[in-house]
This record gives sequence, structure tokens and C-alpha cells, in this order.
Amino acid sequence: MMSVHGMYDKANSILDIRGATADKMQVLSRIEGLRAEIDQLQETDPAKRAFRDLFIGSSDSGARFALRDHVIEEIGRISDDEVIRYLRYRYAYEVFPADKVVRKYPPLVQIEPSSICNYRCVFCYQADSRLSDKRHGHMGVMPIELFREIIDEIEGEVEAISLASRGEPTVNKQLPEMLAYVSGKFLATKVNTNAYLLDQKMARAILDADIQTLVFSADAATEPLYSKLRVNGNLERVMQNIERFNDIKEREYPHSRLITRVSGVRFSDEQSLDEMEEHWKNFVDQVTFVDYNPWGNVYEAEKKGIDEPCSDLWRRLFVWWDGRVAPCDVDYLTTLSEEKFPSSSISEIWNGEMYQSLRERHMNGERQQLEPCSRCVVV
Ligand code: SF4
Repeated sequence: MMSVHGMYDKANSILDIRGATADKMQVLSRIEGLRAEIDQLQETDPAKRAFRDLFIGSSDSGARFALRDHVIEEIGRISDDEVIRYLRYRYAYEVFPADKVVRKYPPLVQIEPSSICNYRCVFCYQADSRLSDKRHGHMGVMPIELFREIIDEIEGEVEAISLASRGEPTVNKQLPEMLAYVSGKFLATKVNTNAYLLDQKMARAILDADIQTLVFSADAATEPLYSKLRVNGNLERVMQNIERFNDIKEREYPHSRLITRVSGVRFSDEQSLDEMEEHWKNFVDQVTFVDYNPWGNVYEAEKKGIDEPCSDLWRRLFVWWDGRVAPCDVDYLTTLSEEKFPSSSISEIWNGEMYQSLRERHMNGERQQLEPCSRCVVV
């Protein structure tokens, strides 16, 4: 394997997290309290493996499951009878990509309510007109009927969904109906938004749905840096929207279990997590920086010479607004896949020719022959 720098380690893409508050010992003791129930599970059950890694240790080599800060926080907010399901999901999400295990469904399904974005962030592929120019056919919003079909297939099979991908989800006016439809069906539903369009209706829809995590994408605490990175953005408006959201949450949803997080992309030396924390800590539960993955224009980027397989091929599946299915959003023009839902089911695609061939070629050291994988830094 070549020695390379600048890889994007998807499993550790959160560089730093501030403000996670749940008590790790308490969470561990809750999990340990489930020992009798977990003992009844099959040895191959991911929840049993997670338990073994946490409390017993193992002679197995390879990736081990541990509780990360944001995972502790998530377990801290679910009920005891949901913990085994959660461990099953989280072990699959973290360890299957390292162990190259594929089950019937991906650990995470990422659904794109909208590929359209109202921002043009400097580090984002929305700046590529081959994507964002409407004439090329990549722009649109997902119809609610298609969304329901996806959810109907994966409910009970998948525990984690993200409503976000290439575009801004709140651009889709049917997002409130989508949120209502997923309510109570998953243990880790996350919505990412730049909060520019976060009006009262959207805020109540998010809180009514009782989802687990709402991520506000923001990379700076002050202007002009915010707008320099988030082109077309307006920090003042975003702050007003988040304050109104918090106000509604406190007054109308005092028992909400929602975790709010500001997540910034670590892109420039001008950014400071300390400043971010200082500014945002009064408005959200957590403040994080994620590693910068050079998303913009992968197709013309130089070849990276990375031979390591891409872990995302074992971790998640993306459904675009029009039903097209992609293995990742680095390939934002969808050149790796011709799959479409519902012509094929999510499970068929995850276990089908496109995914299996990509996995095999990555495992066989052929990543350099695949585009845009040869120019991508995700491992
Ligand atoms: S372009 Fe290839 S290597 Fe990069 S994230 Fe997508 S599948 Fe993985």
C-alpha cells in the first residue's frame, strides 16, 4: 500500500467535539444492566459483539467498538428498551466497514430531500455548475410519495437515516410531511441544515417528529468569515432563526430529546474551535469541527494514489431526490452508479452488482482504475 498524506478518515471525521454532556459511566452501567438480555442473543449479533468489546474484550484482531462522545450523548437520550437496537446499529456503522461485513441493509441510509442549495460554500460541489445549473438535470426536490416508499422499505431494517446530502433539505417544502412520516421509526434520525430557511413551521415539524439530532452547518462565529466561507449566507439571519428555534423548543417542547449541534468544516487557519465554542455554546448542545474533505470538483482533481478501500462502501447508501442511488456524495454527478429506486429496492442495490463490484475492486487494489475514486481521499 502506498504511503499517502491527506486521507479523509471517514470513521474519525469529527476532529473535536465540545459540550457533550452525558455521563459515560452511567451509560456504561445502563448497557451492563442489559447483560442477561444480551446473553440470549446469537454470537454474531452486532449488539452482542458491541457488549463484548465494551466489557469483556476479545482475542479478535481488527476494529473494536468503543463509545465516542456523541454516541454516549445519543444513548443518554434513548430509553433502556431501545439500547440493544441502538448498539446493533452503531456497531454495524463503526465496525462493519473495517471488517468488510455486508448485511441485508446498510447501517445508514442518507436521503436527499433536495439537491438544490441556497448557499454556494467555497468548499462545496454546489459551486460546480455541472451540478447546480438546472439544465444538467441534477437539481430538484424529492416528492413525498417517493420518500414514503423509501421509508416503508427500510423501517425496521435500518436504524439510522440522515435527511441531507448534496443540497439544503429545508428547500423542500414537503420536509415537514417527511419528518412526520419518519417520526418514531428510527433511533438515529439526523437533519443537517444551514438554518437560513428554518422558519417556525419547519422548527415545529422537527420538534414534533422527535428526531434525534439536528445539525446546524456553520464554520465561523463571526462575520465576515462566516459569509466568506458560506457564500450567500447571512449569520445574523441564521442566528435569529436558531434563537427562535430554541425559544419554541423551550416553551412548547420542554421534554424534547433532540440534540442540537453546530458543525463546522475545518477549512481555513482563520477558524478557531475555541471561538466557535464560545459563541455557539449558548445556542446548541454540541460544537464540532469536521475534517475538510475536498468535495469541490473531484473529477478534475489530481490522482491521490490511495489504495486503501473506501469505508463508505460498507457504511452507507445515498438516495438522491429523484430516486437515483449513489455510493457516496463525493461522486456528486453520480458517475459510479446507474441504480434507481424503486426500480430496484434498497436491499437489492446494497447487495447488487454495482456495490459488490465497487467493493471487490477496492479490495483488490483497483481503486486507481476507478473514477472518481482515484482522485478522492475518503478511506
Ligand atoms: S468517490 Fe469512490 S472512494 Fe470516494 S467516497 Fe465515493 S466510492 Fe468512496
